[in-house]
Amino acid sequence: MDATSTALADFVQRHPRLFVLTGAGCSTDSGIPDYRDTNGEWKRPSPVTYQAFTGEETTRRRYWARSLVGWPTMANARPGAAHRALAQLEAAGRIGLLLTQNVDGLHDAAGSRSTVDLHGRIDTVRCMACDTRTPRAELQVELRRRNPRWAELEARAAPDGDADLDGRDFASFDVPDCPRCGGMLKPDVVFFGESVPKERVAASFAALEASDAVLVVGSSLMVYSGYRFVQAAAQAGKPVAAVNLGRTRADELLALKVERPVGEALAELADRRWPAPSQPHRI
Ligand SMILES: [Zn+2]
Repeated sequence: MDATSTALADFVQRHPRLFVLTGAGCSTDSGIPDYRDTNGEWKRPSPVTYQAFTGEETTRRRYWARSLVGWPTMANARPGAAHRALAQLEAAGRIGLLLTQNVDGLHDAAGSRSTVDLHGRIDTVRCMACDTRTPRAELQVELRRRNPRWAELEARAAPDGDADLDGRDFASFDVPDCPRCGGMLKPDVVFFGESVPKERVAASFAALEASDAVLVVGSSLMVYSGYRFVQAAAQAGKPVAAVNLGRTRADELLALKVERPVGEALAELADRRWPAPSQPHRI
């Protein structure tokens, strides 16, 4: 075991109630590409914004066409070593809350229970008018039924259940509306340019306050909605450790940085024998 692995194990040992913040680096082993390179720069065109999605019909056609082709990658993704290790650490009583910036649901699939999906879930669709939520898998059937020729396309998988379908004419793509009220359907995720629901942020900050330290896993923290938790932890004097390949926006705030593949580093950590954290006495 190298020095940073020992330091990481010590960090977890000293701080029994962790607030864990995860990002795309947790899911790349599961076949879900990430948006950024190790410098935290965009690898690809930036994702669709809320304003473009809700304001432009052509953007919605393009979004759902790409989503139709990209969905199977997302639907078939299985948890990787990092997801499993974090579920194990939670079962060992080391994690107060796992806040993920990922929308793939793979922490839940791995068995983590104390999770908050900061940016929502791609496996759910929400009607923007009547707020009805339905499984994304159901919409896939409808998208395929309306667009059989598109359903035959294969394309390179892109982040968040998207696929690269450049240079096509999306005008003929038929986007379904809400079957209940005719409203606009949107994946139940927080798009760029959209705010995270207030109660979700408040619950996460409450968990941060109750924690001893923060562990960042597989995130460059370039998006403010995640970065602010690290900022708040630093302001409150809570130490922050990060396991991430490459630069993070919070590098100068970190008490410990482990630059290793997250699956490997976390699996080693979870395989240690963790004593149950001491519980306050009840009378
Ligand atoms: Zn509706």
